[in-house]
Amino acid sequence: MLVNYLAANKMVRCIGVDSKTVLQEAFRIHKMSQVATAALGRTLTGALIMSRHLKNENEDLSIQIKGDGPLGGVIAISTFDCKVRGYVDNPDAIVPLKNGKLDVGGAIGQGNMTVIKDLGLKEPYIGTVPLVSGEIAEDLTYYLANSEQIPSIIALGVLVSPKQIIASGGFMIQPLPDTDETIIDELERRVSTFPSITTLLSSGAGIDDILRDFMHGYDIEKIEEVDTVYLCNCSRERIERAIISLGKHEISEMIKDGKGAEVKCHFCNTNYFFDSNDLKTFI
Ligand code: ZN
Repeated sequence: MLVNYLAANKMVRCIGVDSKTVLQEAFRIHKMSQVATAALGRTLTGALIMSRHLKNENEDLSIQIKGDGPLGGVIAISTFDCKVRGYVDNPDAIVPLKNGKLDVGGAIGQGNMTVIKDLGLKEPYIGTVPLVSGEIAEDLTYYLANSEQIPSIIALGVLVSPKQIIASGGFMIQPLPDTDETIIDELERRVSTFPSITTLLSSGAGIDDILRDFMHGYDIEKIEEVDTVYLCNCSRERIERAIISLGKHEISEMIKDGKGAEVKCHFCNTNYFFDSNDLKTFI
């Protein structure tokens, strides 16, 4: 579930997500290691939060992370109505714990983060920044500050055992332009002492309670609540269009090859098979 609030005299935007059920579905589909699950969970949650920067239905937002660590890349795409999907390049990747915790930054390594907003215009909006730590919340904060000039506080967290998701969620606190500096200073002071999102969620706090607690002392008003779901929008027709877009030459080669074409959707692991006769109709 995603909740969206305005607080402090409508000067601060607060968005929170409890993404446990979303990540449970991703975990079922991708059969990931714990560190891969944490990386994907944080990125899926980040994409859901950032989807509030979209304006209309049919728009979507992608976060693509490319790293040189054992995990490779991570991708998450959220639609405006909070249907999210994603995957990691190497779901089996394992790295040693760091200070007793899953080392997402170490699993991702050095690289960059790209945010793509498909606003239904001819060209999508694309912004890329180098990774700060590979821990994802910090990288998204850096992206927003540097690529979109929006200061924000972002917390993302996943608690996972080898067998199941215990908690997953996050929040973003964003002062709107012209917000009083003293409010910003106060909120930044709170972050340093606020418990981790996974501690709060796993102790049974709801995402609403967490945001209200963070903003205590300020007025806070809920603007919207949106159900979040892990959902892939692939279909045989979409894959057909993708094959057709390869062009006549490529498709003729596949027909000559005689093995047909097998395409696996990375987001939901569905296999699509097209035999030579199918391929001929594409030409
Ligand atoms: Zn799919």
